[in-house]
Amino acid sequence: MKAAACMGIKNIKLVDIDKPEPKDDGVLIEVKACGICGSDLHVYNSDLLTEDSTKTIGDHRIIGHEFCGEIVETGKNVTSFRVGDRVASVHNKGGMAEYVEIPGDRLKSLYKLPEDLSYITAATLEPLCNPMHSYHLREPKNDETVAIFGSGAIGLGYLQIVKSYTNAKTIIVDVSNLRLNIAQKFGADIAINARDEDAVKKIKEISGEHYVRYQDRTAGGCDIAIDCAGLALTFIQTMEVLKPEGGTAIIASVYEEHASIDPNIVMLKYLSMYGSMGYYPNETEEALTLIARDPEKRNLLISHMLPLSNVAEGFALQSDPERSVKVIITME
Ligand SMILES: [Zn+2]
Repeated sequence: MKAAACMGIKNIKLVDIDKPEPKDDGVLIEVKACGICGSDLHVYNSDLLTEDSTKTIGDHRIIGHEFCGEIVETGKNVTSFRVGDRVASVHNKGGMAEYVEIPGDRLKSLYKLPEDLSYITAATLEPLCNPMHSYHLREPKNDETVAIFGSGAIGLGYLQIVKSYTNAKTIIVDVSNLRLNIAQKFGADIAINARDEDAVKKIKEISGEHYVRYQDRTAGGCDIAIDCAGLALTFIQTMEVLKPEGGTAIIASVYEEHASIDPNIVMLKYLSMYGSMGYYPNETEEALTLIARDPEKRNLLISHMLPLSNVAEGFALQSDPERSVKVIITME
């Protein structure tokens, strides 16, 4: 079968490997669609998280974890799934391949899809699970202001959830007009292109500017700020736009650099901070319900669909925020 293997930095190649077989307590999925994740880009661009984000098959490291497809074989002991079941997978790797074998102890990470939900749309499930977890760490209230740094799949997913569940005011920051336009379609109240204007200054204008004891820099007035961009700069800005006394930072990104920050700001502003990585099964169910409720809305995220044979082009596209939001690789 064909599969997409990481051969080094910026080198994704189509390889031919043996079609797997399910174990007695596992299943075989014929993959239909697989999204390229931001974490896949860390592998692609920097060889970071390669071990975590790929499945080793023989000499190859097969990438892809945001996939869905049809169960085409089940092991003889499997009772929870049947041939023909349409499923989305979370937490399993090696999804950019024609088939993926799921062992018995991983069947709990397969979610049956509603009949009318397309595989393409369902492939966006996993990147909605992460922000669902971020959302529940500190749920915004209707009269609160939320700043979102990064208008990629995670930032947009978080925005979609906040706008679906609350009337909180949302401010989103990115450097890609394409992505900021999509954010507006998801209902962002204010979209700021940080290339065109000083994002922090603008957020302070909108959310209020507050004096901070013993500091020469003022604070913004946001109740929640989430960093989905993963830059040293956005990490610091996340701290800066929060209001003193009660502001909550959510760190929902992988960083490739260290940030330098005066830690006194955490004490002087009484900041709270959550790290957000991963999600619980009930949050996956909830994300799937939200997608199924309005698939057209979710499809706004998808900028490109490319066949597996064009996977290298897919990664190049996904690495360019000016040209793409979410690239989905299809197997047919
Ligand atoms: Zn992902």
